[in-house]
Amino acid sequence: MYSYSDPNIQQKVNLEENYNNEGRKCLESFLPAEILESVFEHTHMMVAYLDTDFNLMRVNRAYAEADDHLPSFFVGRNYFDLYPNESNRIIFENVVKNCKPYFATEKLFEYADSPENRTRYLDCSLIPLEENAGNVSGLFLTMQDVTERAKINQSLIESEQKFRNIFKLSPEAVVLLDKTGMVVDVNHRVHDWLGYESSEFNGKRLLELPCFDDKTKTLILEMFCRRMKGEKVGSYEISFIRRDGSTFVGLVSASAIQGSDDMLYDLVLISDVTLLKEQQNALLEAKMAAEAANRSKSEFLANVSHELRTPLNSIIGFSDAMLEGYTGDLKGKQAKYLNNISTSGKNLLNLINNVLDLSKIEAGKMDFHSESFPVADIFRILENMFLPMTSSKNISLQFNCTPSSLAIHADFSKLEEILINLLSNAVKFTPENGAIEVSARSTESGIQFSVKDTGIGIPVDKLDLIFEPFKQVECFHKREHSGTGLGLCLVRKFIKMHDGELSVKSKEGEGSEFCFVIPDLGC
Ligand code: ADP
Repeated sequence: MYSYSDPNIQQKVNLEENYNNEGRKCLESFLPAEILESVFEHTHMMVAYLDTDFNLMRVNRAYAEADDHLPSFFVGRNYFDLYPNESNRIIFENVVKNCKPYFATEKLFEYADSPENRTRYLDCSLIPLEENAGNVSGLFLTMQDVTERAKINQSLIESEQKFRNIFKLSPEAVVLLDKTGMVVDVNHRVHDWLGYESSEFNGKRLLELPCFDDKTKTLILEMFCRRMKGEKVGSYEISFIRRDGSTFVGLVSASAIQGSDDMLYDLVLISDVTLLKEQQNALLEAKMAAEAANRSKSEFLANVSHELRTPLNSIIGFSDAMLEGYTGDLKGKQAKYLNNISTSGKNLLNLINNVLDLSKIEAGKMDFHSESFPVADIFRILENMFLPMTSSKNISLQFNCTPSSLAIHADFSKLEEILINLLSNAVKFTPENGAIEVSARSTESGIQFSVKDTGIGIPVDKLDLIFEPFKQVECFHKREHSGTGLGLCLVRKFIKMHDGELSVKSKEGEGSEFCFVIPDLGC
């Protein structure tokens, strides 16, 4: 008797043969023909009986229904007229010729004539019915629709394939460990980066791997155990030893996963962060160098400013004293020239002070002393300071504080400097007979200040530029007004120190309004 290498098939063959020979007789002697008939008709399995020319002699109800016909439709029709298929015909012929059954699992079957052109997967058996030794009298065909199972298997195979591709093509090194910490698989990056063959990893336990020193082994074992206990372990960096003895730093991120066999696995991804580390170090070094340079710049500016301020104060002080007549009456153009010396000296001193303030802010060394005081205190100082200038240009100057008792929590000298800068600009850029209004009022978001003038205004396209250091609108056409171009830049930084924002509304030829809000810090 022919023997099959697959033990499952062999077992089936034995069963069928038994059935064909002894079993059938036995069954018939035990079960009345009506019961066998009933089983034939009601089984969910599709069953057909064919003669040796493959004419269908009888089919059961399940068979007929699968093809959308009545059982009588099939009787006398040739199987291959209904389902033409050359390779199946060879299988059928061999079963008759060799008197050996044929079995197939998940065999593709196309109902070519059906309207939906259905494709099904069938588990089939084709059993020769032996009349006497080697003489086949007919064929017994059984088929079971296993399409759903086959599709599930197919999608499992596809997802397995996808996973394999991700595993193979991943830009990271991937190591799969079982729950005992034994390497099940590694991808080719492990070889590319470390120089070891996958055979030097597969089947080895974590502690036997050649790419770790003892300290690292302790760490990775601890992380592995925590993951296997269900703990979430974040990414961590470890040092790997290559086959050639050199080392590289890898970022490890791993997580426990459930395999298709329901077993727990540890999926470990390793990224090469050598380049990233180098870039981080370079950035850190560059930052340190920049900070050192900035410190030197600030120190240099502080020293130079100090050295410049001392002689400048003498120049300003002595020229002012001479202008006031301490050295006797001035003759000819002496007063004019002394005035020039004093004004230029004051402008230079202003510039030096501004540069020094800016570098202090940038170095984070600007002091900030917050205190509570009435806004009216500052307004009084400003009025005394600016009234002589506005009067000489016949500009009306008004201060409004709502309510008049309004108090603020801020750095007094910085707020004073902010308003002095804005007011100086307002006076500078407002022609004779104009008006300037300085106001403060309590709002929901804090105390809102406004410095409004009826001056020359600022072109719309220059509104953003005026806050940049050394940018002056006039340098775009003509320069009439002196200044450093640093005032608004400093004002903005001082307001930022109070967590406020500076904004400007202006129309060329009609005037400007600078506004800012100092948030209420709860005084
Ligand atoms: P500056 O020392 O030149 O006044 P600022 O930073 O204070 O420097 O101002 C920058 C520029 O913004 C000024 O040169 C001027 O062109 C413009 N500006 C500022 N305030 C006013 C204003 N109230 N009216 C018109 N232009 C102004």
